[in-house]
Order: sequence, then structure tokens, then C-alpha cells
Amino acid sequence: MNKQKEKTVILVAGAGGFIGGHLVNYLFSKGYKKIRAVDIKPLEDWYQLNKKAENLKLDLSDLKNCQNVTRKVDEVYNLAADMGGMGFIEANKALCMLNVLINTHLLMAARDNYVKRFFYSSSACVYALNKQQRSDIDELKESDAYPAMPEDGYGWEKLFSERMCRHFMEDFGLETRVARFHNVYGPHGEYKGGREKAPAAIIRKVISAKNAEKNGIEIWGDGKQSRTFMYIDDCVKGIDMIMHSDIKDPINLGRSELVTINELVSIVESIANIKLKRTYSLDAPQGVRGRSSNNTMIRKLLNWEPQISLKEGLNKTYEWIKRELSKNG
Ligand code: NAD
Repeated sequence: MNKQKEKTVILVAGAGGFIGGHLVNYLFSKGYKKIRAVDIKPLEDWYQLNKKAENLKLDLSDLKNCQNVTRKVDEVYNLAADMGGMGFIEANKALCMLNVLINTHLLMAARDNYVKRFFYSSSACVYALNKQQRSDIDELKESDAYPAMPEDGYGWEKLFSERMCRHFMEDFGLETRVARFHNVYGPHGEYKGGREKAPAAIIRKVISAKNAEKNGIEIWGDGKQSRTFMYIDDCVKGIDMIMHSDIKDPINLGRSELVTINELVSIVESIANIKLKRTYSLDAPQGVRGRSSNNTMIRKLLNWEPQISLKEGLNKTYEWIKRELSKNG
């Protein structure tokens, strides 16, 4: 098996991003040796740069670039997308829809270059909005994506791209695997600037308040919206397991530990050992009311589900953001 891994040539698309950067390191740690890492960002802007990889700055919405980087590749992991947290995806629907070019061109190039396996990173945003209107929501199971009524822009593109993967498998024999991620968080990701997600944004606000000796924090929405959050180490392990399984349909990859945003803030406050006065910004983007991952399918098919508790994952993320803020302000 290890000999096989050493020979396998891998492409990680979006390797300069949060999940892609962690995935490159994870795959090296599992014995893979030939990894091509590609991102549109200049190398100095990648969250993590692994010197053992072949690191390339290329725009993967361009078909020619996709054809070049998939040559002699065995496995493609597509993590490339122009995306961010709720604030970004609600204000940039067209940009999110344009991600369709990346996945479509990567699929076409993978088919033409006889790639053996193709992983696509989908999202819980594919789920029908009418199933997510309460905080105490039923967990979302895979079949809840249909009848289709996903998140406008970002979610529609993800659902369409999932189906592209399915039809490339059915019509062209390309083995595709699709995971629906539920809110991934951890170190080496966006924590400021407008694309950051709730856990990183809340940690940054709590640390900044503590540093400035302020006693207040602004929360988007009324704080009662609920979510599940998966630590990055569970995410990359899940990607590997799903990629090398026989699971041909899209599958949830998320924690099932449901919390409200208020509860998330309380956990971060307890890590920081501080109590802040909360103000609620009711006009800010806040997404669906409740969203949670039903893990029946992953438990049944992989005998595993994401393990790392929110408290443990937030602790590690807190320490990293604290260090970054002290370096960069
Ligand atoms: P990220 O923004 O940190 O990483 C995405 C990377 O893709 C970025 O570095 C970006 O520069 C790159 N990229 C964008 N356009 C490109 C192009 N044309 N060519 C090459 N590279 C390009 O995001 P992430 O959190 O690492 O997410 C990775 C994938 O997982 C995305 O598809 C995202 O939609 C999906 N996802 C993430 C989450 C989450 O909570 N992080 C949840 C659901 C789904």
C-alpha cells in the first residue's frame, strides 16, 4: 500500500487556501510523495506552503491550465473556489456561480487525461432552505438536498457541480467522490478581511476585545441561529476516507454537535477567560436559521464520523489566531 502511495501522483486544487493547505500536509504525512499544489494566489499569499510539493500559481477556471496540471495525475482533489463566510457569499453570488468554471474544466481535463479519482468539495449550502428554518432543526440527511432549493448563488453552483461529477462518472467512467462539508474551522485560514467564517470571526473579536480591554462584542443576527462546526483535522481525514471509498453519492462530512452562535461565543469567552456584553446586529448576514449534519450515512459506510470536540478545536484555533494577531495586529 505504501509503495502504491509513493507512486500516486496527486493534484490539490486550491492548495493555497485553508482546507487545501492542510490537505497537502496531511497527504504527505500519510506517505504520498508526488503532490502538485495549485492556486490562483501568488505563493507568498498561501496560508501554508509545503516545500515538498510542486507549488504552482495558476488560474484553474482556464481549461488549458487544467489540462496541463492534470497530465499524468492519478487523483485530483478540487478545493479551489472563490468563497468566504456568509458575509461574502450573500454579497458575491455571481462570483460564487463562476466557480462552476473551475470544477467543469477540471472534470473535463481529468477525463481527457485518464485521472483515476476526482474529489469535489461540496457544501451544506446545497440543502433545501425550507428544511433549515428553525434553530432546533432536524439534522440534514443527504436526501434533503432534493427537491432542490439551495442557498442562492453559492449553493446552486455546488449542487450543479455535484451533478456534473455524477454524470462524468456515469457517462465517462471517471470515479468521482463528493463530500458536503459543514462549517470547517481551524488554524491557517481566513480570520479577518471579510471572507472569514463565524468561529474565526468570533475568536478574533473576543481576542481584540480582551486586548483593547473593551467589554463588548457584536454578534451577527440574534445569536440563536444554530450550526455544527468541524475541526480541520477531521475534515482532511474524512476527505481521504471518502476519496478512497466506494461511496459514489454525495455524503455529509460534518460534526453533529449542534450549537447556537450564542453558545459558540460562550465557549470562546471561556477559553479567553472573559465575559463580554453582547450586542446583536440584526441586519447583518446570518444565513439559514438552523443547520446540522446527519451522520447516519457516514457512520454506516465508513464506521467513522468527525470526532474532535468544539472545545478542543476552538482552543487550538484560538491559540493560532492569538499568535497571528500579535504578529500582524
Ligand atoms: P479557501 O478560500 O481558503 O480556499 C479556496 C482556494 O481556492 C483559495 O486559496 C483561492 O485562492 C483558490 N482559488 C479560487 N479561485 C481559483 C482559481 N480560479 N484557480 C485556482 N485556485 C483558485 O476556502 P476553503 O475553506 O479552503 O474551502 C475549500 C473548498 O471547500 C471550497 O470549494 C469551499 O466551497 C468548500 N467548503 C468549505 C467550507 C468551509 O467551512 N471552509 C464549507 C463548505 C464547503
